[in-house]
Amino acid sequence: MSTQIEKKIVTRFAPSPTGFIHVGGVRTALYAWALARKNEGKFILRIEDTDKAREVEGSIAHIIESLKWLGIEWDEGIDIGGPNAPYVQSQRLSHYKKYANILIEKGLAYPDPYTEDEVKVFRKKAEEEKRAFLYREHRPESFGVWDGTKPLRLKVPVVKSYTWNDDVRGELSAGEEALDDFILIKSDGYPTYNFAHIIDDLEMGVTHIVRADEFIASVPKYLSLYDALEITPPIFVTLPPILGEEGTKKLGKRDGAKDILDYREEGFLPEAMLNFLVLMGWNPGGEKEIFSKEEFIELFDISHIHKAGAMFNEEKLLWINKEHIRKQSKEIQSQSVKPFMKDYPDDLLNRLLPTVIDRISNYGQLNSIEPIEFRFFINTPKLDVEKILWKDSSKEEALSHLQAVKEILSKADFLSSESIKESIMPYAESNGKGNVLWPLRMSLSGQEKSVDPFTICYVLGRDEAINRIDSACSVLDS
Ligand code: GLU
Repeated sequence: MSTQIEKKIVTRFAPSPTGFIHVGGVRTALYAWALARKNEGKFILRIEDTDKAREVEGSIAHIIESLKWLGIEWDEGIDIGGPNAPYVQSQRLSHYKKYANILIEKGLAYPDPYTEDEVKVFRKKAEEEKRAFLYREHRPESFGVWDGTKPLRLKVPVVKSYTWNDDVRGELSAGEEALDDFILIKSDGYPTYNFAHIIDDLEMGVTHIVRADEFIASVPKYLSLYDALEITPPIFVTLPPILGEEGTKKLGKRDGAKDILDYREEGFLPEAMLNFLVLMGWNPGGEKEIFSKEEFIELFDISHIHKAGAMFNEEKLLWINKEHIRKQSKEIQSQSVKPFMKDYPDDLLNRLLPTVIDRISNYGQLNSIEPIEFRFFINTPKLDVEKILWKDSSKEEALSHLQAVKEILSKADFLSSESIKESIMPYAESNGKGNVLWPLRMSLSGQEKSVDPFTICYVLGRDEAINRIDSACSVLDS
């Protein structure tokens, strides 16, 4: 009897430290991570820092912080180590050298004999003849010895058309023109991405390459290198592009793709951000759009990743964030609101909480909403007769309604805004809603627009509500 041991899924996120990471980068990390988690596999975080000219200081710390904020934990990689350490490409140069030497020995890599100016001339000639420039057409007859001062190039083993499978895109193919003798190791001693990622994926046992679509055109080149090394490529999982709000152009840093941590600063919840990002290019089918991390991991699969571009829409992010806020416990909601509403007494804030939560899609909005909409709860409103009177009703009318309501409130049940509403409504209905409720709401809030008077009464509590009605009565009476 034989048991078939399935290969454990290993995925990786391999960012280059070239600045802040934005939604596109995080979405790649998220999909690679979700695929590993769903299959009880392994997720690796590797830093691809071989392009020293593009490196931006602080990027690695930023990547780590962003992933940690979102709860995308890695099993191996930078910061935590693992069996394939180091996980930073600039510290793995000996690994690339080893494979470079294997290729040299096989006669499949050679030092580039040309100066930059010579290559420029080749390029210009190809342009003039209106054909694509291919380095391999200038490949030297015999290869010199590589001493590291010149770039090392791959000798494409067999110039041919390639057909390959991408688990998202299906069968893809490219003609011979997609192949060229690309650089493996640059003259500065660092490998190119094209070379280094293949070696790292091999050594780290990566089974699925989940990455952005900008690499798709280079896959034939990678396939020729896999062939040269006689290794089986991992499975390709190419994600759909993320398009800007207009749905036409790819979302890039230049078109307003923000630093992912800006969303944290703005008050978005990590679970909402994950929910939003996971839907940008994947959907398990059905109507449901609000998922917890555990729920979407459970459902995550490659077959539901879309081919077509995913539209980035901040309105949707706000909506998703609102839904996640609503699902939070009262304790968490209260802790999140408190820093924005420090001056509010705890008991009042607890009663006000549902109203606040109802008004916001994001806690950060309390920076601007709070002073305008809620201040009157802790600051007694300034009133004048004009404000209190409803349309052309008289002072006497308003006064008698306020006094009647005060009577009702002194005996009413203050269990909820609903119970207060039930006590007041019969009187308001028989005396004209506007006539009764406008002066009441004005007495309580002093605001032309505010939440309903029953909620205000409930939040203020009986004593304060009655005090405010009394003050309004004296204004009317003076
Ligand atoms: N280092 C590449 C980048 O940041 C990642 C490519 C990949 O995922 O393989 O663009």
